[in-house]
Amino acid sequence: MDDFRKTVDTLSLEFGGEMIGPEDARFDDARGVWNAMIDRRPALIARCKATNDVQTAVKFAAASELSISIRGGGHNVAGHAVCDGGVMIDLSLMRNVTVDASARIAKVQGGALWRDVDAATQAHGLATPGGLISDTGVAGLTLSGGIGWLRAQHGLSIDNLVGADVVTADGNLIHTSADENPELLWALQGGGGNFGVVVQFEFALHAIGPEVMFAAPIYLVEDGPEPIRAWRDFLAKHGDKVGSLCEFATAGGEDFPEEHWGKRVFTLACVYNGDAAEGEALLQPLRELGEMSADFSGRMNYCDVQQLFDTLMPAGEFRCYWKARYLTDLTDEMIDLAMANALAAPSDSSLSSLWNFGGATARVPANATAFGDRSMGWMYSLDGVWTDQVDDEVNIAWSRDGWSNSERFGHHGRAYLNFAGHGEDNASLTQTSFGPNYERLVKVKTKYDPQNRFRFNQNIAPQT
Ligand SMILES: Cc1cc2nc3c(=O)[nH]c(=O)nc-3n(C[C@H](O)[C@H](O)[C@H](O)COP(=O)(O)OP(=O)(O)OC[C@H]3O[C@@H](n4cnc5c(N)ncnc54)[C@H](O)[C@@H]3O)c2cc1C
Repeated sequence: MDDFRKTVDTLSLEFGGEMIGPEDARFDDARGVWNAMIDRRPALIARCKATNDVQTAVKFAAASELSISIRGGGHNVAGHAVCDGGVMIDLSLMRNVTVDASARIAKVQGGALWRDVDAATQAHGLATPGGLISDTGVAGLTLSGGIGWLRAQHGLSIDNLVGADVVTADGNLIHTSADENPELLWALQGGGGNFGVVVQFEFALHAIGPEVMFAAPIYLVEDGPEPIRAWRDFLAKHGDKVGSLCEFATAGGEDFPEEHWGKRVFTLACVYNGDAAEGEALLQPLRELGEMSADFSGRMNYCDVQQLFDTLMPAGEFRCYWKARYLTDLTDEMIDLAMANALAAPSDSSLSSLWNFGGATARVPANATAFGDRSMGWMYSLDGVWTDQVDDEVNIAWSRDGWSNSERFGHHGRAYLNFAGHGEDNASLTQTSFGPNYERLVKVKTKYDPQNRFRFNQNIAPQT
């Protein structure tokens, strides 16, 4: 340990960021991530300020034969950002975003959050598809897909990733784009954090807003499935312009009538990817499908929409276990099952949701990105969220049971790898979900990280 300490002291002379070891008063805060269940202790946290700090930290890990975890936004529910006994490369000080409005490109540092990107791009009336919660990291969300409100018209986050700067396992900095190291760009488009530390992403931008139409009529589960069936049929016609999810939750607080508090509800949440007034008219029928418990619909700024759900999910407060599978279709039976699963949730903080695909997302060929096949029509996600450790078992069981009992509606057993439990089914889930792209990913992994230094992720093992 003394030798290790000496090496760290030497390293800190050439490191421009912050070195945080277990004896440091900042250690417990620095190793904490979004899911309060994750309690791991890295040997060293290297909080980088610049690309050369990342290179120094990667070379140090290699020389010390330590594995590396990478913290982007720290939102991964499996806690892949933090490792036991290795080097945690923390990018939380690298959040810069620069926008070239005429080229419609944003350059985004590897530790940026979606709210950083939205603020910088909307200043020019532009945006790129992100996620639904603004303090989720750009890096982790993008590298495994990225499913957000703009997917109907502009696809997943990876479909807009046009370049990246990556520090690979040997500490070298590599640029990748369609013209330079294109195989690496392909792998980053869904293959996760397997190939190195992405210090900068380059995204294509699109004209969005600033005002968009957001619809969120809320109905009681006990009133029956008809609104969900009507919403499904509506999306079959308008899925090219509407990014949507049906989210099951529990009513509470002043926005709901008091007699509904504690009852299960579902929101038919939609963002119209086009003119706000046009969207308001188009989405109106979804607000007339029965008696609403509440209605959060309205025309609002895109940045506000991107932050609407933030208060549901504060960092570090909840214990979580999430699973999501793709569905071929959304049948009446699957809707009934989703309602039954929502009613059975042991925690009022848990959510579950049905997400539509189609539109631009579905038009990308299966081999164009590592992510793979786009022919799934839907995704079903079970987000177990609770506060007390004694409730761990029952809440994890709820997510897993819902995952199992929906298997017959699944899309070839494929899953969204950003919502993959705590990583316990990694090997099988990864292979099944990448499908025919898996072997090509193994080749890229073997080239850029032959010793599997980057293994705290949905791991793709290199060839030995
Ligand atoms: C509240 C909440 C809401 C969410 N909403 C959505 C949503 O709307 N849409 C969606 O698609 N997903 C969503 N997710 C899932 C989210 O995409 C994943 O949790 C994702 O891993 C988070 O990225 P991060 O950078 O914050 O995570 P981290 O925990 O920091 O990292 C996750 C993984 O990415 C790797 N990684 C991180 N940074 C880098 C980097 N710079 N270079 C290389 N690898 C890196 C890490 O090694 C790790 O394996 C949500 C998650 C939460 C908790």
